[in-house]
Amino acid sequence: MHEMSLAVNIVEIVLAKTQAVGGQRITSIELGVGKLSGLMSEALIFCFAAAARNTLAEGAELLIRELDGRGKCLACAHSFVVDSLLAQCPQCGGYAVETVQGRELQVLSLTIDE
Ligand SMILES: [Zn+2]
Repeated sequence: MHEMSLAVNIVEIVLAKTQAVGGQRITSIELGVGKLSGLMSEALIFCFAAAARNTLAEGAELLIRELDGRGKCLACAHSFVVDSLLAQCPQCGGYAVETVQGRELQVLSLTIDE
């Protein structure tokens, strides 16, 4: 499952940040998940709980923020919100659209008990 390796990754990132500031426990993690990433929030939360077991991140609340997809037209450089990877430029009608946002998964913020 793709979500599991991502969850392990998230735990590694937040543990490194927590250790860097000498924190004792992570209470919540705000995650940005691109709408075009194809990731299931429920699966991510489930996998995170498993990956965080016996670490400082165990029991931390996962707050998921969906990030809009954004595309940029390669023909006319128009930038717009897209809801799929196959988008049409609303300005010139072209299909040569580069996805510039919406496929990422990133840790936006952390709440740490010191
Ligand atoms: Zn265009």
